[in-house]
Amino acid sequence: MNGKKAAEAAAKRAYFKGQLKKIKKGVKMEIDPNCKMEVDPKTAKYKTAKNKKTYYFCSKNCFEAFMKK
Ligand SMILES: [Zn+2]
Repeated sequence: MNGKKAAEAAAKRAYFKGQLKKIKKGVKMEIDPNCKMEVDPKTAKYKTAKNKKTYYFCSKNCFEAFMKK
């Protein structure tokens, strides 16, 4: 097997394992309204409240793009 592919598969498995752990722990993921990526509200550095809802962002870029709208 191709070494790079094997590494990618292992990374994918680790990622899903991590996601599964979060689901089992009951961590609710928020969706970044700019890029639609899942963001963990506990670790999100960028967030804002708008229309009585709190929005979480994966990065400063997404936060700024959302605020410009
Ligand atoms: Zn984002």
